[in-house]
Amino acid sequence: MIKTQISKIKTLLSTPKHIVIVPHRNPDGDAMGSTLGLYHYLNLYNHQTTVIAPNDYPDFLKWLPGDNSVLKFETQHEESISLIEKADLIFTLDFNAYHRAGHDMAGVLEQSKAIKFMIDHHQQPDDYAKYMYSDVSMSSTCEMVYNFIEMLGDETKINAAIATCLYVGIMTDTGSFRFPATTKRTHEVIGCLIEKGAENSQIHNNIYDTNSYNRLQLLGRALQNLKVIPELRTAYITLSQAELDEFNFKKGDTEGFVNYALSLKGIIFAAMFTESKQDQIIKISLRSKGDFSVNELSRAHFHGGGHTNAAGGRSDDNMETTINKFISILPQYKNQLSIAQNGH
Ligand code: 5GP
Ligand code: MN
Repeated sequence: MIKTQISKIKTLLSTPKHIVIVPHRNPDGDAMGSTLGLYHYLNLYNHQTTVIAPNDYPDFLKWLPGDNSVLKFETQHEESISLIEKADLIFTLDFNAYHRAGHDMAGVLEQSKAIKFMIDHHQQPDDYAKYMYSDVSMSSTCEMVYNFIEMLGDETKINAAIATCLYVGIMTDTGSFRFPATTKRTHEVIGCLIEKGAENSQIHNNIYDTNSYNRLQLLGRALQNLKVIPELRTAYITLSQAELDEFNFKKGDTEGFVNYALSLKGIIFAAMFTESKQDQIIKISLRSKGDFSVNELSRAHFHGGGHTNAAGGRSDDNMETTINKFISILPQYKNQLSIAQNGH
């Protein structure tokens, strides 16, 4: 779709613009990698570009090139609003609906008169963007930003900063190149990024081998709390606020925990329930293997969504009620959960 619009985009970008780039709330590796990758690219053209994250993100992402230029809407409110109001172009990356930027920022984005762009791989995108590049088959938004730069005929301009940022998001969203959306093309893009200066081994180290002792202890607790429902090939983890406090929880500490539940032999559906006293919700992370759509389940029952095999959601009930609800809805999916795994 965007290919037919690419010459219009080229014309738009041919003169200096005020540009704002926005990832989703609670940004992950793909959200920060894609926004900062695009930031470094647009900066090659004398635009005034700012990445505005809705809120803070984990420390393991804070080494990314350009990280020190990122504004946080939640704590740098005035400055962020003024940049959004002044923007000619706004790129929204790695999300599919304004509300994913959080309630306050969503309102400001909606009010803005800027030309909107969406680059995203989540299911059921809203249609607020004039220029929309949405493809749910893509491994990551970072792979799409690479494609976007290539469509603009600028792949030779990709430098080490752009390559490093894009590598991070492809790596984190594919679970280090193992999830089914990882294609030959994904590996080819990764190859190009290494050629352009992404230091692959160092990047893996920066993201995955910078654990705190507390985080590993919290993982230990999460694994002790793991429950299995073998007949429905389901496993789930709970973490209460008290448990998070006990191990001095920091943003990002529970990233990836849900995958341990999914790694159990025979399990095709995994969930993690994390209490947030501050937000007064239970945050829900859902993962699956094969055709079982956690996007659909989250949309139907937990106010969320995402992808077929990875989705988020929330519950406004307490932990006990949430778990009871979760267990009570599983029989609705009995056919999908207890029948053959479709080869996955
Ligand atoms: P996580 O469990 O890591 O928070 O989220 C898994 C995936 O689902 C990520 O790609 C995330 O962006 C997406 N996701 C999380 N919450 C929501 C939501 O409320 N709506 C949509 N559309 N996607 C979500
Ligand atoms: Mn993503």
